[in-house]
Amino acid sequence: MNKSDISFRDRPINLDEQGGRRWVYAKKPEGPWYRRRTVFNWFVLLFFIAVPFIRINGNPLILLDIAGRKFIIFGAIFWAQDTLILALLMLSFVLFIILFTVTFGRLWCGWACPQTIFLEMVFRKIEYLIEGDYRKRNKLDRGPWTREKILKKATKHSIFILISVAMTNTFLLWFIGSEKWILLVSEPLGGNLKAFAIMLLISGFFYWVYSWFREQICTMVCPYGRMQGVLLDSRSVVVSYDYKRGEPRGPKTEGDCIDCHQCISVCPTAIDIRNGTQLECINCTACIDQCNSVMNATKKEPGLIRFDSENGIKHGHESIWNPRNRAYSVVLLVLFSFFIYTLFTRPVVETTILRTPGLLFQENEDGRISNVYNIKIVNKTHEALPLEMRLISHEGEITMAGSKMEIADQDRFESTFILYLHEDLLTGDKTEVEFGIFSKNELIEKYKTTFIGP
Ligand code: SF4
Ligand code: SF4
Repeated sequence: MNKSDISFRDRPINLDEQGGRRWVYAKKPEGPWYRRRTVFNWFVLLFFIAVPFIRINGNPLILLDIAGRKFIIFGAIFWAQDTLILALLMLSFVLFIILFTVTFGRLWCGWACPQTIFLEMVFRKIEYLIEGDYRKRNKLDRGPWTREKILKKATKHSIFILISVAMTNTFLLWFIGSEKWILLVSEPLGGNLKAFAIMLLISGFFYWVYSWFREQICTMVCPYGRMQGVLLDSRSVVVSYDYKRGEPRGPKTEGDCIDCHQCISVCPTAIDIRNGTQLECINCTACIDQCNSVMNATKKEPGLIRFDSENGIKHGHESIWNPRNRAYSVVLLVLFSFFIYTLFTRPVVETTILRTPGLLFQENEDGRISNVYNIKIVNKTHEALPLEMRLISHEGEITMAGSKMEIADQDRFESTFILYLHEDLLTGDKTEVEFGIFSKNELIEKYKTTFIGP
């Protein structure tokens, strides 16, 4: 790419005028920021792999069981019925991301996003190892298909495929849990062809992303990346070029930037940070390290590219706190406190009682009217509960289908029962009735529904 391509532009840097792909050959980063990022990323990677195997009270640390409509987040179990609590949690999370982004820009993308971590710390490292640094890789790709090239490409892509399969299985563990996954892989393949096909499809997708699509996820697909334009302002602390110090640029000018283009060569999205904050910048800090090593070599102060805000560069140091992120913090605090309150005060069981669809009332010979109901109770505690249901609003009789009402911990009870009420107790064609759910003689939940009669 030449200089005019990367200064001012109306399209992503990795696309040519016809919209075709321009391959990015990023130089291998080196330096203190890259070392910090490597250590942090390995912790995140380890967390990602270990989560399905870490248990709290016998439950995984995190389980997103969409099929079973059950979510376990840091040991706390949420059922589909916990809509308010889940909504509060999601809202708090979104607000936290907004607060974090207005303050620190796209730091998440470069430091904690699984896409970047897998690309930079796993796939790219394997590529450096097999094909060498950016110049060698560029030469290899442009060169003819020699024995060496075939061998290198075959080895790299075979390892990429194996890692994609391993990634998919780790990803699946978050959704189905380790027990179910072990059961799936230990059973004969013939019985799980559909699951196997899904696993292959997702693996194929990961392989395509990490071997070809790469940084385009961050620059063209990810909606979070697209939001930067509205979330960032001149007070946001991001990877910035100190134009006051750096300009006029050139090898023999007054400015500190010697125009060596090293910061561009190391950038995984191939941008020139000297043009200001751009949507492609994932705040990976590779250009900070690279420019600092140039500054050291030219005996100048490091920090020509650094974490700073536009205001910080223009006016010197500024506090990261401003009215905008203070206001977000207050709203986040209120929302999160409400979430904690609802989490700790939610009922221990969640009951739903509905009249069986399609059935009307029945008139019995003894003058009583009966209705048939479906009952569903979710046990949200970590202990088995012996349960009993009583009608607390009227004198009536309940006949439950099946044996005892008992639910194991974190389980569901579903059954059908008939409620008999004497005709004299009815107040019209619809009478409100109230049930009490008792455990060890203690009332733990009440539920109101209607009883229909003649
Ligand atoms: S690495 Fe530093 S000195 Fe070299 S071009 Fe980039 S900003 Fe200028
Ligand atoms: S400009 Fe710097 S921080 Fe931004 S993506 Fe490129 S190398 Fe990373």
